[in-house]
Amino acid sequence: MRAVSNPKRTPLFRLITVASSGMGSFILGLWGLQFGFGDGFGGMPAETMGSVIAALCALSAAGAALSFFAGIDESADYVFKETQFDKLTGALSRQAIVGKVAAAAAGTIKTGEPVYLIDIDIDRFKQINDAIGYSHGDELIRAFTKRLKENMPQDAVIGRIGAGEFAVLLPDSEIKGSLERFLENLINQMIEPYQLQTHLQSVSMSVGIVAMPKDGVDPVLVLRRSNLALQNARASGIGNWSVFHADMGRVADYRQWIESELKTAFDRGDFHLHYQPQFDMQGGRVVGYEALIRWKHPERGMIPPMEFIPIAEETGMINPIGEWVLRKACSDAQYLPEDCFVAVNISPVQFMTKDFVGIVRGAMASTGIKPSRLELEVTETAMMQDRDRAAVILRQLADMGISVAVDDFGTGYSNLSYLIDFSFGKLKIDRSFVSRIDTDSSSGAVVSTIVGLSRALGVGIIAEGVETETQATLLRAAGCEVVQGYLYGRPAPLKIELGQARPAHAKREPARLVSLQ
Ligand code: C2E
Ligand code: CA
Ligand code: CA
Repeated sequence: MRAVSNPKRTPLFRLITVASSGMGSFILGLWGLQFGFGDGFGGMPAETMGSVIAALCALSAAGAALSFFAGIDESADYVFKETQFDKLTGALSRQAIVGKVAAAAAGTIKTGEPVYLIDIDIDRFKQINDAIGYSHGDELIRAFTKRLKENMPQDAVIGRIGAGEFAVLLPDSEIKGSLERFLENLINQMIEPYQLQTHLQSVSMSVGIVAMPKDGVDPVLVLRRSNLALQNARASGIGNWSVFHADMGRVADYRQWIESELKTAFDRGDFHLHYQPQFDMQGGRVVGYEALIRWKHPERGMIPPMEFIPIAEETGMINPIGEWVLRKACSDAQYLPEDCFVAVNISPVQFMTKDFVGIVRGAMASTGIKPSRLELEVTETAMMQDRDRAAVILRQLADMGISVAVDDFGTGYSNLSYLIDFSFGKLKIDRSFVSRIDTDSSSGAVVSTIVGLSRALGVGIIAEGVETETQATLLRAAGCEVVQGYLYGRPAPLKIELGQARPAHAKREPARLVSLQ
């Protein structure tokens, strides 16, 4: 069933209209003849002339009517296509999908057979689009749609409802096996890199699902709920999916609150940096400090970075916030021991910003920090978005003498071939492996493999999230000497003793870091 009916006329209706306009003109012609010409014209008897004029009138009126209706049909067709289909991909439009949801809801109420509405959104599509340019962004969307169609059962109804967002209506009967398996397969297929004209583009996506009639039958409500589930999936980590449940409304309210507060918080100066030491077990000393952002809201208190960073990334607020972190950390480095570097987390969104290297250069110039004292922590995900561009950025940073650590290493991509193309100085073993190293032998094996890999590549290695002596001993046995974690110090604010503040290049005693407890 079509959501919006096409106002095309039937041929019979058209015939009647054309004939009646013709007839009307003919009568008009006769009438004009009787009153206008009286005795005839050019030797032609009045009757003959009258018939000629009437016939001509009828012909032109019929022609006009024909073209009028043809015109209506054409524009109706045009409007229909414009409103029902997405021009870029040929998938259904948002408007059409609302109609399809209504129809599916009516069906599912009658039969009781569940129909799923699946909301699929490419993570950070806006930022990808800005970074690669709109024409490549369009190319990506077309390729994504094509693959989505290929990976959906034939009866699935697919629509594009936002820039990088799609809605799919899928009856339960179309899914072979469990919904969970289906979604996991789908995500795995969809996040395989896309070959664009100029480069290989990686994407991640989040997925939200509602089941009709259980979770509602009103199209607007069902669409809102699938989006709530999507936001929930996104909040619990990139590349995730979740099924709607009633609590999600509250989560969405909180998320919206954060989104609306971020700008005010930034302007008000709510953000601070804490520093966590990185310890070299062999040398027995702290070699660097990782800067970690803290948001202290005047009414709500501390808000963890994992709750606001993803939202700042989506809204673009991460750019001013990230730049502030970079400048503040570079400036704070003057209060840290001179033989220590400062490590700054860089969001994938920042990393792909057009002038990221320029921003780093600016921060260094305004604070006077030496490049050897700055390290940037960049995740694999950030590097994989656009490999070619990432390789160029990493090369530029290396040329500037800045070291890059691959953060959360081991959690991202299984294909390690990209490591060869990238210039970076360090692998940072993810906390998930460290926390299980003493209980789970496969984590130990992963850690040893990563250490081996770092040696083969000739780069440094550090393990994060070290909480126990046993973990430290096992890491050391595996060949990882540099560690970071609660065992060596929690993130804490930098305490600058009175009168100790000096410019970056002046020699000075190191400032003290105080613990939070
Ligand atoms: P991350 O980069 O992996 O940072 C390490 C996180 O682990 C920090 O959480 C740190 O406090 C925590 N941690 C350190 N040692 C231990 C330990 O021994 N055990 C446990 N359980 N946790 C430990 P935090 O500060 O909550 O930051 C979370 C994430 O937020 C960071 O993960 C990073 O991805 C992001 N983040 C923090 N600050 C910034 C920032 O300035 N910019 C950006 N873009 N992201 C940031
Ligand atoms: Ca980090
Ligand atoms: Ca990490």
